[in-house]
Amino acid sequence: MTALPLVFDPPKGGRPPRHLADLDPAQRRAVVAELGHPGYRSTQLARHYFTRLSEDPAEMTDVPAAARGPLAEALLPPLLTPVRQLACDGGATRKTLWRGHDGTLLESVLMRYPDRVTVCVSSQAGCGMACPFCATGQAGLTRNLSTGEVVEQVVASARAMRRGELPGGPGRVSNVVFMGMGEPLANYARVLGALRRLTDPSPNGLGLAQRAVTVSTVGLVPAIHRLAGESLQVTLAVSLHAPDDGLRDTLVPVNTRWPVAEVLDAAAGYARRTGRRVSVEYALIRDVNDQPERADLLGRLLAGKLGRALAHVNLIPLNPTPGSRWDASPEPVQREFVRRLRGHGLSATVRDTRGREIAGACGQLAARNT
Ligand code: SAH
Repeated sequence: MTALPLVFDPPKGGRPPRHLADLDPAQRRAVVAELGHPGYRSTQLARHYFTRLSEDPAEMTDVPAAARGPLAEALLPPLLTPVRQLACDGGATRKTLWRGHDGTLLESVLMRYPDRVTVCVSSQAGCGMACPFCATGQAGLTRNLSTGEVVEQVVASARAMRRGELPGGPGRVSNVVFMGMGEPLANYARVLGALRRLTDPSPNGLGLAQRAVTVSTVGLVPAIHRLAGESLQVTLAVSLHAPDDGLRDTLVPVNTRWPVAEVLDAAAGYARRTGRRVSVEYALIRDVNDQPERADLLGRLLAGKLGRALAHVNLIPLNPTPGSRWDASPEPVQREFVRRLRGHGLSATVRDTRGREIAGACGQLAARNT
């Protein structure tokens, strides 16, 4: 665990500085040309950032020394400063609280597993979706993150892995999940830019497999349809949390706009169009949504709407937020829920709750610091 100095400048607002990762290759070339440099310098800069994970302009030895400073200033401004890091699971899970250029706080979580390394990123500072069991939802939306700010969370994690900062020696980031703070599909254009930068092959992007990137949404139906048309193979996760509108209206307030049936139809469309199995997220909340009848209702609904082959249910025992009246379902209840879903022919697992003691994945660290 590293304690970094805490500096809390009051938010000044305004957009984050432009960064190479905000731009596609043609836009980068245009910026470099405007500054009076040959277009190919933009590819060199991209290789430094995405492939070599370089932070120091002095390492850009293929760029003339006099050009390094101005190019780095124009396209590689610092975006995020680490404020605090917390580790758990013997160091295999590490959460970072970041401060943006305007004092905005956001967080990401790096998780090392035997077979993969996953970064959980934030797409917004705060969130406007107001789900009552989620810490981020309680604080409201501060602002959208830029494409560069999303990508930088992954690049910083990739650097940490390369430096061997997590036990197990140097490694590489293989997966990214948009399950940190924010509703990614409410920040559509910037998140789409981030998906392209993460998956574009080197030197234009980080070269992650599209299938290894998961976008998790409360169920913004028009945006799910739009994402299905982007010719991307990214995994879609839908935060359902209840199979019936009466209960879901209270757990995921946006359900009053796009109810369960419409969300599942959109998810089915995504699955058919991309051939990708959709992940259905379901937080198990004791005596709220964990009854055997609801497991059966969920099972019937998913088997009917998505088909057994195209759905996987990810059950997440609730991680109670401070002061919450809700708690996780007891283990026997969790097991029965899984058993019933499997009885409907569905694939269902209880998610490993990494980072519970460091308030992982629920906006709790940033919430505590504001
Ligand atoms: N806005 C996106 C991403 C949010 S976080 C979405 O809603 O999908 C990723 C997942 O964590 C979501 O399924 C969210 O509902 C869930 N989550 C949030 N708070 C939680 C908590 N306290 N316990 C368990 N899961 C939680």
